[in-house]
Amino acid sequence: MIPRNPDAKDLISLVVPFYNESEVADEFFREVSLVLRNIAQADYEIVCVNDGSTDATLDHLLAACAADPRVKVIDLSRNFGKEAAMTAGIDAAMGDAVIPFDADLQDPPEAIPAMIEKWREGFDVVLGKRAERQTDTYAKRSTAALFYRVHNAISDIKIPVNAGDFRLMSRSAVDALKQLPENRRFMKGLFAWIGFRTTEIEYSRRPRAAGKTKFSGWKLWNFALEGMTSFSTLPLRIWTYVGGVIAAFAMLYSAYLILRTLIRGVDIPGYASIITAVLFLGGVQLIGIGVIGEYIGRMYVEAKRRPVYIIRKIYQKDDL
Ligand code: UDP
Ligand code: MG
Repeated sequence: MIPRNPDAKDLISLVVPFYNESEVADEFFREVSLVLRNIAQADYEIVCVNDGSTDATLDHLLAACAADPRVKVIDLSRNFGKEAAMTAGIDAAMGDAVIPFDADLQDPPEAIPAMIEKWREGFDVVLGKRAERQTDTYAKRSTAALFYRVHNAISDIKIPVNAGDFRLMSRSAVDALKQLPENRRFMKGLFAWIGFRTTEIEYSRRPRAAGKTKFSGWKLWNFALEGMTSFSTLPLRIWTYVGGVIAAFAMLYSAYLILRTLIRGVDIPGYASIITAVLFLGGVQLIGIGVIGEYIGRMYVEAKRRPVYIIRKIYQKDDL
C-alpha cells in the first residue's frame, strides 16, 4: 500500500436515495452533518438522489443544497427504484471512499467513523453488518433469513448475511463496480461480485426516523427473485434433473405396468393414476416454463440496453 500523505484530506461521499422522504429529510441532514463534520482529515459530500418523489422531498433537498455546498442533488426523471437511484449516486460520487446510505436513518451515522478507520487501515470494502434486526418485523426477519439461505445455496457469489447496502467502498472498488454493465442491478450481489479486501463492522439497525417503508411484501419478493436470477442459473438447470428423475420413475412404472398386464391381464380401472400423472407433470412443466420465462424476461430487458436511470437535473450550490 502507498503510505498516506499525513496532510492530505480524504473526500468521503455519502450516497443517499430519497423516495418520498420529506418527513425525514431535514432530520437526516442534521444528524448526518453532525457526524461527518467531526471526522478527522476528511471533507465530505452528500450525494442525494431524488428518485421521482411525488411529495415535497425535492424542495427539502434543494433547501439543504442551497445552505451547504457539500450537498449535491441528482433529480431523476421518474421513480427508477432504489437500486437504480443508488447507481446514479455512486456514478456521480467523487469521493475517495463512497458510502451508500438510507435516507430514513435506519443505518446509524455514528457507524461511519468506524468504517473510515477500517478503510484507512487498508481495507477496500467495509460492510455494515446488522448485529440484530429487532426493529424489523418478525415476518421480514424470517423471510430475509430464508432469502440469504436460498440465494447463497444456489449462487456462486455469496452475499454476506444481514449486510445491507450500508457499507464503505474505496475508490478502486467503486471504479470496479462502475464497470459492471448490467441493466437490472441487484446491488447486494454486484457489491459481492467485485470482491476486494473486505472487513465488517457491526451495528444495530434503528427504526425508521419518520415516514414509512417503500418496500411492500410483493416488492421484496420480486427483489428476491431478481437477486437469485441475477447470480444463479441453477433454477434453469435444475429442470434437467427434475425431468430426468420423473422420466426414470415413469420408466420403472411402465415396466411394472407391462409386467402386471402380462401376469394379470388387462383391467380397466386406472383413472386415478392417469389423472395424477397428467396433473403432476402439467404442474411441473408450467413451473419449468415460468422459470425460463423469468430469465428470458430479464434477457429481454437487458438486450434493450436502456440506461439504468435518466437524470432530469443536477443541482449544486453554485448554480442555485
Ligand atoms: N428508495 C428509493 N426508491 C424507491 C424505494 C426506496 O430511492 O423506489 C429509498 C428510500 O427513500 C430509502 C431507501 O431507499 O432511502 C430504503 O427504503 P426503505 O427505508 O423504504 O426500505 P426498508 O428500510 O424498509 O427496507
Ligand atoms: Mg428503511
